[in-house]
Amino acid sequence: MSIISDCHVHSTFSGDAESSMEDMILKAIDKGLQVITFTDHCDMDFPYKEGEEGLFDLNTDSYLYDILRFREKYGDKIEVGFGVEIGMQTSCADKNTDYVREHDFDFVIASLHLVDGYDPYYPEYYEGKTEKEAYGRYFELLLENIRLFNDYDVVGHLDYIVRYGKDKDANYRYEDYKDVIDEILKEVIAGKKGLEVNTAGLRKGTKDVHPTYEILKRYKELGGEIITIGSDAHRTDNIAADFDSALKVLKEVGFEYYCIYRKRQPLVVKL
Ligand SMILES: [Zn+2]
Ligand SMILES: [Zn+2]
Repeated sequence: MSIISDCHVHSTFSGDAESSMEDMILKAIDKGLQVITFTDHCDMDFPYKEGEEGLFDLNTDSYLYDILRFREKYGDKIEVGFGVEIGMQTSCADKNTDYVREHDFDFVIASLHLVDGYDPYYPEYYEGKTEKEAYGRYFELLLENIRLFNDYDVVGHLDYIVRYGKDKDANYRYEDYKDVIDEILKEVIAGKKGLEVNTAGLRKGTKDVHPTYEILKRYKELGGEIITIGSDAHRTDNIAADFDSALKVLKEVGFEYYCIYRKRQPLVVKL
């Protein structure tokens, strides 16, 4: 395997994950990875359904304590990164900025998990909207959010929304959202940030990694260079899942390198 790191991984510090941090590390070692970067969820002001309160709050002190503990224990076998996946909302951009500044993260992923207060995982969001309206609004809000929240390294699963629409990505094409997606890519590049290639969609029935070949190609055309790779695993069996697909699409687009972040600085690795 030529990809040596998984830079988007959850542990039971995220309310929707199934495997402990130690089990995730052991599995990553088993799979031959040299780096695993935990990016547990921190979604402030999440509109929880009853019974799910606090699912995406991160107890950052305990989380860091365990990262340090496992670095001590497994440091000779694998590098364990201290990352976070920030759930953006326009209402909490300042709180997210303060939160990131208060911690010494290796890596910060900025993701959009909510659209106008709706979780697009649930069908309510799509009611009364065409697919183009539902997906288009997600991209507009992603753009608005990365203009408000700048303290991140990469945009996570840029076209996340297509995992959850009724027809998923069957009819989804970059061309239909070109204007807004191009603005997102330009914003990312101008801010010296990057994109992650996220393989989780493939496990959830999409044809492509996030984002698609067309978007990665456009990103490169516009001068984008920074790429990270993550499985978004929420349990051990998904660590580094479908990394062959990530490698294939990146090579097809013409990328020769990807990045691993340490102390918020990209370390360039050959693909
Ligand atoms: Zn996410
Ligand atoms: Zn994630």
